Amino acid sequence: MNRKSILVVDDDEMTRLLIRQALSANTFRIIEAEDGAEGVALFNELKPDLVLLDVDLPKLNGFEVCKIIRESVQGQDLPVVMITGMDDRQSIEKAYRLGATDFMVKPINWSLIAHHLRYILRASSYFESLKKSERRLEHAQQIAKLGHWELDGTQGRLLLSRQFTKMCSLPGTQFEHGLDYLISLVHPADRLHVKSVLQQALLNGESFDLDVRVKLPNKCLLYVHLQGRRLESCTGSSPVLSGIIQDVTELKKSQQRLIHIAHHDPLTDLPNRILFQQQLERSMQRAKRRNCKVGLLFIDLDRFKNINDSLGHEVGDALLCEVAVRLRGEVRNYDTVARLGGDEFAIILDAIEHAQEAMSFIQRTMALFEQPFYLCNKMLYVEASIGISLYPDNGNNSEELLRNADMAMYQAKHSEQHQFSFYSEDLTEVTIRRWSLENGLRKALENNSFRLVYQPKVEPNTGHISGVEALLRWDRGDKPAVSPSEFIPIAEESGLIIPLGKWVIQQAVGQLWAWQGTACANLTIAVNVSGRQLHSDKFTDYLAAVLEQEGVSATLLEIEITEDYLVPNNREGNCQATLRKLSDLGIKMSIDDFGTGYSCVSQLKNLPISTLKIDKSFVDHIPEDQQDIAIIKSIITLAKNLRLEVVAEGVETAEQLACLRRYGCDLVQGYFYSQPVSADKISELLELHALKYGAH
Ligand code: C2E
Ligand code: CA
Ligand code: CA
Repeated sequence: MNRKSILVVDDDEMTRLLIRQALSANTFRIIEAEDGAEGVALFNELKPDLVLLDVDLPKLNGFEVCKIIRESVQGQDLPVVMITGMDDRQSIEKAYRLGATDFMVKPINWSLIAHHLRYILRASSYFESLKKSERRLEHAQQIAKLGHWELDGTQGRLLLSRQFTKMCSLPGTQFEHGLDYLISLVHPADRLHVKSVLQQALLNGESFDLDVRVKLPNKCLLYVHLQGRRLESCTGSSPVLSGIIQDVTELKKSQQRLIHIAHHDPLTDLPNRILFQQQLERSMQRAKRRNCKVGLLFIDLDRFKNINDSLGHEVGDALLCEVAVRLRGEVRNYDTVARLGGDEFAIILDAIEHAQEAMSFIQRTMALFEQPFYLCNKMLYVEASIGISLYPDNGNNSEELLRNADMAMYQAKHSEQHQFSFYSEDLTEVTIRRWSLENGLRKALENNSFRLVYQPKVEPNTGHISGVEALLRWDRGDKPAVSPSEFIPIAEESGLIIPLGKWVIQQAVGQLWAWQGTACANLTIAVNVSGRQLHSDKFTDYLAAVLEQEGVSATLLEIEITEDYLVPNNREGNCQATLRKLSDLGIKMSIDDFGTGYSCVSQLKNLPISTLKIDKSFVDHIPEDQQDIAIIKSIITLAKNLRLEVVAEGVETAEQLACLRRYGCDLVQGYFYSQPVSADKISELLELHALKYGAH
């Protein structure tokens, strides 16, 4: 059993003996000290549960010992009972002042002393556990940043917990004119509201719950959650409100961060499309009220993709950030600069009087691009194209205004004269169409609205299908169809041909895989590839990877390239190396639309080409047109000499077919045999063919 230890400090041996006797029958362990100094030493060494201390002691007197104990860490809450003379009031007062727990007056009643001390020990242990639980509560409140407050009526006193005063850096825990004081802590903008809520609560007993801003003495803003209720027991007397306060600054800040993130571009920290649209709507409403205009600038960097591809994303990102900084530096503080995505920026010119104001701003904006950009140790000149639309002149809602500014930008980008353009009703139809096709293509890529169709290549003598050409189709729902002859050049110009071309290859190789083990297993698929694709250095790697991935033999894939890609002075050059790589992979290559370009015959010898495709324009007018016949004949002769295969395309009639067969054309392709059709149709055609001719 855990016996309590009692340190008895008394120089009188007789008293010590009596104490020992009075207590020893009980379960105490007695430690004795003869003077103050020994008392302190034993206290430090043995850490007793209680000290019984005589006032008059040699070396250190009882007061001094008591003081030392109280100042030590373990002695703060230790029960110290002092023994004084009968009517020594002064000593008693002094003992209390120095922190004595209790006192005993001589002569001591020996029969009661054990009860007395046990009582003190019990009280001290309650006190200790109370203090512990208080500490735990305070700790928990500290973690939760939670404080407590109590307000006594409107004019009464305000009591605050320590955590509250710490949280708000207040000078104390009690304040008169409580309500006014509480209100004075609140941010001026929130005061009226808080006051009425508190008064209401005092009056009706309604509980409340609000988020309030508190302005700290150091000017920092604290967001707190204030909750409270009138205490029910206080009816009759003045009402008391009691509640908690919680510091929710971090929470508020992270909420604000989230809201910020949702409305800003992470790279440049400019407003994003969502915030931009909101601002634009607001500006338009304001302009409507004040009868003025809003200018909308749509800014697109020229050749940004090139910069990104050739110098790396790091430089590209740095450029976008620098552009953001320059643009932001140029606008008035109530204008908005936003990044709409990629290399597109937009500026809202709020409340302008006439178009001229926008014009002078545009000139300043363009001047921003005359300065070189220094990025990642590189100096770069970058130009931008700007399109402008005005509210209300060029649109009544934000979408229309943005679309028209975008279109004007598109016009500026494709015009030789200006880098900027105002939207006008008479934007050329060509521009509008190209603009909407480019945007449409971008969406179609995202929505996967493309498909491939296949046109058979047939041996004219046997009717045997040796392969197919894959041709791209754009599904536009109810909108009128657009031919690839129109949208491919736009895709090339905008760079969309790169992802689009990848899609085509993936699709074609997937089809080759699907045909394995069917009647179509030996069919080749020819894919049209544009120069821009071939020039992107990763093209061959991509192709090899797709073939490998699908486990399809490269010999089943053909590539059709147009003649202009082969023109020796082609500024992008190095087509030889690319073609060589493709041929090393085992891929056959044909020259499309042969005869319409300027390919140099001597070059044909040196390139790993396997096929020439005679352009449809020559086939169209045979057998009537003698000149076309002569051209076709000489292309076929040339091909034979170079050991190349010849394919004629656009064969629509039996006469054309007969003519080509006569001149020894290897393969023909055209509506006479089949239009471009789905892959399933090709399978059917082949099965039909096998039924018809399979026996022979
Ligand atoms: P192309 O490579 O010369 O393709 C032949 C075009 O002639 C196809 O037009 C085809 O449908 C059409 N055609 C075939 N036989 C006949 C016929 O007997 N009579 C007539 N009137 N036309 C016939 P399409 O599919 O509209 O393609 C046009 C051009 O678009 C293609 O010319 C090609 O240069 C390009 N293209 C198509 N698909 C792709 C593709 O996936 N990638 C690339 N880069 N270009 C493509
Ligand atoms: Ca072709
Ligand atoms: Ca062609």
